[in-house]
Parts: sequence; C-alpha cells; structure tokens
Amino acid sequence: MTIPRYWREFQHRYRLIGTKCPKCGRIYFPPREVCPYCHRESIGKMQKVEIKNTGKVYSYTVIHQDVPDFKFLKPYLFIIAEMDSGVKVSGQLVDVSPEDVRIGMPVRISFRRIREEDRAGIIEYGYKFIPDE
Ligand SMILES: [Zn+2]
Repeated sequence: MTIPRYWREFQHRYRLIGTKCPKCGRIYFPPREVCPYCHRESIGKMQKVEIKNTGKVYSYTVIHQDVPDFKFLKPYLFIIAEMDSGVKVSGQLVDVSPEDVRIGMPVRISFRRIREEDRAGIIEYGYKFIPDE
C-alpha cells in the first residue's frame, strides 16, 4: 500500500462517526440504530454524522490502578467530554497533569497509537483527548 493511500484510509477510518436522529436532532456516539426518545419513528432513519473533535471537560476521574496491556503512566486522567455537537464522549486525557485539569477545560480528540503488539507488530490506534488551549 502506498503511503498517500494509507493516510487517506487512516483519516477516513479514524473519524468520530455518530448517528443523528432526524426527528429530534439528538446525536449519539457510539452510533445508535434507534433513538431512545423517538423509538419507532427513528428506525431506519438514523443519519451518520461526523462529530467535530472539539469539546470541553464535563467530568473527570484520576485513575491510580494499572490497566493490563496498557502502558499508561500512573496516575492518568479519564474524562467525559461534552463535544461541541452536544454529544458526550469518554476517554483518556493526556498531556495535562491531574492537578491542572478542570471542568469546562477545552479539549480535543487526537488519534494516537494506543498499544503495540510485539510479536505480530500490530499497532492499535484509538483516540485520546488533549488540551485545546
Ligand atoms: Zn429522536
């Protein structure tokens, strides 16, 4: 695979895609097939939407435990962010120390290497939050 093609596919694959209910306008991430508010009226009508990668810290937790297979530095931050589209997304917040995080702090989603499987050399990517100020 050529490098430009790789990056095109990477960008395509690693976007935050949610679904939007055409009736009430609510946005869901992870995507839902049915809107829990509109039920039957939303079946088969949910629309794919790309969720903008900017938002702010809605709540946060400082994690002190080890997570198997993940070489996180301890302690690390796990947040729920309210994205600019209104949807809430949870994940790890990096590049900020636990004492500096605050509710309402602007953050954005960045796609990063999460872990590397040594023998097969498989690299897993996922999203993390980083400060956006
Ligand atoms: Zn709805």
